[in-house]
Amino acid sequence: RSTLKVALLPADGIGREVIPAARAALEALGSDLPKLEFVDLLAGFELFTRTGTALPEETINALREQDCALFGAVSSPSKRVAGYSSPIVALRKELDLYANIRPVLSVSKDPTQKPYVDLVVVRENTECLYVKQEVSEMGEHGRVAKATRLITERASTRIGKMACEIALQRPRKHVTIIHKSNVLSVTDGLFRETVRRVPSLPEVNGKYDSIQIGEQIVDSAVYRLFREPQIFDVMVAPNLYGDILSDAAAALVGSLGLVPSVNAGDTFVMGEPVHGSAPDIAGKSIANPLASIRSAALMLRHLGYGKQAGRIESAVDEVIRDGTVLTPDLGGNSKTEEVTAEVLKRI
Ligand code: NAD
Ligand code: MN
Repeated sequence: RSTLKVALLPADGIGREVIPAARAALEALGSDLPKLEFVDLLAGFELFTRTGTALPEETINALREQDCALFGAVSSPSKRVAGYSSPIVALRKELDLYANIRPVLSVSKDPTQKPYVDLVVVRENTECLYVKQEVSEMGEHGRVAKATRLITERASTRIGKMACEIALQRPRKHVTIIHKSNVLSVTDGLFRETVRRVPSLPEVNGKYDSIQIGEQIVDSAVYRLFREPQIFDVMVAPNLYGDILSDAAAALVGSLGLVPSVNAGDTFVMGEPVHGSAPDIAGKSIANPLASIRSAALMLRHLGYGKQAGRIESAVDEVIRDGTVLTPDLGGNSKTEEVTAEVLKRI
């Protein structure tokens, strides 16, 4: 590659405050990366209220021309708004970004100490309740609402492979399947059995033989996550459980503003902080930019630029360890730009 084409989709709220930080971190790598070409693309609820569309056709088409993308966050109202549908959920499906990979890592004060939390949530990104097939009808005793929860062998197999692939690169090589198949024996049963079978599939050729596969029922997994997070390495989950588990895990490391993710498919990758648009703090320049910066690093790692990703990640770790320049969510009193500058200096 002589150039690296990166789409930027800040979208709503603090997405607009933290995506510039991720861009600056990429730029700070200088000649260690191919020439960077950024393109700004529109999406989001604010765009919808102005133009009537949350995800313009031009944005999708332009994305297909890029090597990768960084997404900020969208504000999706909790009440139904006619004609509106979350662009991030749509983008994941449109670009077939079937895996949402969310590493959660606590940085210990003492660099020789092992982190207290060091796990990766691998969330299936295209189905489960997020197929959004909901219907509401009038029943005998008032309204009745129903949703389809889709689990397929194909999607469960590929997310299982992704989880094994990630586990292979980690010292413990352990995968925990998160499910509720004691109650949902058909849907979660299919997820659980399919992921379990991945290492013995003929096409993987024994590649995952060194991986240990375990399982936890989702509610007890959350309990154990809070009591003994060290037992987890890679957690693989259907879409909704993965969404909830990763916010819960974020609480363990101090802030949602620290946890990055990538949405990955076979041909495209999009970095995205796990947090939302945070309307409660938007516009105040106090959003933590570290999740967004780490998402840029994770995106690079996924594209094969591991060394460059490591430079960004070490700089972020140093800033956290140093502890003097942090945003209020981590108990500091610095602004978004000050934290970003501190990271850039160390890159
Ligand atoms: P949120 O993640 O936006 O915020 C939850 C809490 O964490 C808030 O108190 C917020 O201030 C804090 N927080 C989040 N990111 C932070 C950061 N970088 N620095 C400091 N504090 C941070 O979740 P919410 O408030 O439930 O949702 C707000 C909006 O975001 C909703 O419209 C929701 O639909 C949307 N959302 C979007 C995404 C996405 O785009 N992928 C994900 C989650 C929520
Ligand atoms: Mn979420």
